[in-house]
Amino acid sequence: MAQITCSFCGRNKKDVDLMVSGISAHICNYCIDQAYQILGEEEKNKKPSSKNLKFKLKKPKELTQYLSEYVIGQYDAKKVLTVAVYNHYKRLVQKTNQDDEIKIEKSNIIMVGDTGTGKTYLAKTLAKILEVPFCIADATVLTEAGYVGEDVESILTRLLQAADYNVEAAERGIVYIDELDKIARKSDNPSITRDVSGEGVQQALLKLLEGTIVNVPPQGGRKHPDQKMIPVNTENILFICGGAFDGIGRHIANRLNTQPMGFSKRSETKQVDRSNLLQYVTAQDLKSFGLIPELIGRLPVVTHLDPLDAVALKSILTEPKNALTKQYHKLLGMENVKLTFEESGIDYIVEKAMEYNLGARGLRSICEAIITDAMYELPSDDSVTELVIDKKYAEEQFDKSKFKKLQVA
Ligand code: ADP
Repeated sequence: MAQITCSFCGRNKKDVDLMVSGISAHICNYCIDQAYQILGEEEKNKKPSSKNLKFKLKKPKELTQYLSEYVIGQYDAKKVLTVAVYNHYKRLVQKTNQDDEIKIEKSNIIMVGDTGTGKTYLAKTLAKILEVPFCIADATVLTEAGYVGEDVESILTRLLQAADYNVEAAERGIVYIDELDKIARKSDNPSITRDVSGEGVQQALLKLLEGTIVNVPPQGGRKHPDQKMIPVNTENILFICGGAFDGIGRHIANRLNTQPMGFSKRSETKQVDRSNLLQYVTAQDLKSFGLIPELIGRLPVVTHLDPLDAVALKSILTEPKNALTKQYHKLLGMENVKLTFEESGIDYIVEKAMEYNLGARGLRSICEAIITDAMYELPSDDSVTELVIDKKYAEEQFDKSKFKKLQVA
């Protein structure tokens, strides 16, 4: 019988691990491997064209509609964000289509709002809707190059990882930089000692936000000095920054009181809603807070998030597509237990979240405190087919939990 050999490299069947046979040819595992690698290289070298720009460009109203399926309220932020995102990607399409005289500038965004009001959630949901790579970076761990901490390039390492190292996809991604307020200049007087974690980082971020080619270490950090850098162009990466900017209210109030125009008239001063000063935030206030003008210039879109009241918390608990109550319903449904949250139970959870000042983030821990016992017992008890969470049940469980213990202590 004739020997079976690989039709590509000529190796004998007994010298390879696997031989795949076709109608009149054979291929060994080595050649399959090699062919696969060639395919990968080809894919990487393909020139970007508007045809293979794979993202879904939706109009601002459509985007807001999608966002609202997950994020409750925050209408101002949604409007500003969706318009900025729409324009950003429109600019991208235009760029790849023709070289126009009019250059549309990038519209990086800054969101000001208390912690737990949905800043990260908004950015993340937007990226999900647009189907572009997304990553979250924390401004507090960044330092100026050469100091202990992470270089700003590490942000792009994360984006590359999120894009499975597809550089072209990463170059159209969205980066959310959290806690931008923590790198504000500490005082208005520049001191002689270097401000490693503040202004230095702001300076380092400038080139990234503006759009340059950055050499990114694919493994991140300085631990792998030998790694081959990947050049990434940040021109079409959308940067969304967020921060609580604690105390910015004072700067806003000062400005509103001293404003020579607009709010200067008595009748208009009265209309200022002192309970939510953030809604008046402008670039000027960010500057007084300690962001350098060059950085503010590269984050031209400023928006705010409203504090969450009891009504908003209640909606967050019940309405979004993946609302917590719906998640628990599904979890217990898998155990054939029908879970019902009574209105009184939901009101109790919201009341506690407000009382402990935990915002939307606290809803989860309070629900866990209330429902963990049931989730522990029910899977081993077939006799129970229904669980109703009313105020009485919620109160009993909550009083047993660590929250209550903390309060006693
Ligand atoms: P921030 O970034 O403003 O500190 P997050 O976006 O991380 O807050 O919010 C924490 C969690 O609270 C989110 O994962 C989300 O589940 C919930 N949440 C906060 N705000 C909202 C909102 N407006 N609508 C729906 N869920 C929200």
